[in-house]
Amino acid sequence: MSARILIVDDVPANTRLLEAKLRAEYYQTATARDGFEALTAATNWQPDLILLDVMMPGMDGFECCRRLKGDPATRHIPVVMVTALDQPTERLQGLEAGADDFLTKPPETETLMARVRSLVRLKRLLDEWHARSETARALGLGGDPFAVPSVAGTRALVVDDWDVSASAVMDALPKEGIVAIRARSGREAMGMTLEESFDLIVVSLTLAEEDSLRLVSAIRGGSRTHETPLLLLAETEAKGQVVRGFELGASDWLMLPVDENELRARARNQIRRKIYQDRLRLDLGSVLELALIDPLTGLYNQRYLRRHLAGLVENGQGRQMSVLMVDVDFFKNVNDQYGHATGDQALRLIADTLRANTRVFDSLARYGGEEFVVVMPGADREDAVMAAERLRSAVEAADFTGPSGQRVVLTVSVGVGCATGAPVTPDALLHAADTALYVAKAGGRNRVELAALT
Ligand SMILES: [Mg+2]
Repeated sequence: MSARILIVDDVPANTRLLEAKLRAEYYQTATARDGFEALTAATNWQPDLILLDVMMPGMDGFECCRRLKGDPATRHIPVVMVTALDQPTERLQGLEAGADDFLTKPPETETLMARVRSLVRLKRLLDEWHARSETARALGLGGDPFAVPSVAGTRALVVDDWDVSASAVMDALPKEGIVAIRARSGREAMGMTLEESFDLIVVSLTLAEEDSLRLVSAIRGGSRTHETPLLLLAETEAKGQVVRGFELGASDWLMLPVDENELRARARNQIRRKIYQDRLRLDLGSVLELALIDPLTGLYNQRYLRRHLAGLVENGQGRQMSVLMVDVDFFKNVNDQYGHATGDQALRLIADTLRANTRVFDSLARYGGEEFVVVMPGADREDAVMAAERLRSAVEAADFTGPSGQRVVLTVSVGVGCATGAPVTPDALLHAADTALYVAKAGGRNRVELAALT
């Protein structure tokens, strides 16, 4: 997965080193020499990730991070602070400035790549999520199911037989609201994963009695854990084990002794990514569609239409607007005579005919069984009656054949509800169209009637 990465450092040798490593993995890079350049580049180039040095003349990394996270144009871009080793206070300051993760200087290749991959994946999920939330807003769905998820209440399994590191982890996670549960062996841990589900698994690579990497492999192979974020705890000298852990599917690693802030940041990122992934898997697009689209005809449903109409009226478009209520004549006879499959085909044909004969800015919905509604913003009574007449004659002319090849004539009656300048409510418009429809039915069907609201 390629991505754009902005490298910010005042020492050219540092930026060159990072650029070389990232380009070797086919990432696109750009560089900035101070905080001011970084802000401009972040806004204009819109990178997927920013690697930010802390000590820089002019504006330091903390201030730069604060500004990036305070600007709506850049706040969604993950920021990794590149700090000196053994500086817990710097990390805390970085967290407070809104940093998403940390790297120690000079970063080793495996660690750098693991962080980059992880954060770029998170960014992609966020981008997809924002795109869908825009669509939902455009469809007029209320609420905000798309807010950044909280990790509070999620559950982490901590597998560590060494009390010192285990208690550091067990103390740190609850500060993020994460419920931490400890297992002292791989066997105990695997048993627990069968009983309950976890949002994060932390595995120490220093287990005394067993091979930690075998456990990593078992977790990745488990049906309930193969996608659970997996964080390794390792001694600095156990580099080979960490690399092997990544190959087996670990998500990230943390150096022992555990730095509380680093652990909290990593745990938070990993769990959020899982939450986004789970939500995307629900395929929100189709959930939205199911809620708003009639599956038989592909038209909007009544729920969408009412919402849309209310929105138009709220926006002041209700003073000049028409609503057509279109009902299929003697539809029960079609069902009775030819069966429901044929009835469904007839409804689909009528839906297609209506769609082909309405303007792009009109909204068309299947309102009920054999009833359709067209909302025509800006249409006066002449426009609306003309449109209704066009729909009526198009349906009458449509070629519909029954199951044994016979031609079946379908017709519709149309009631037109029309607002003529005074403020209206959605219900009043629909009611007027319905009243007119009743008159059209009573008057012999296959005809158009008008009810104007004054
Ligand atoms: Mg520097």
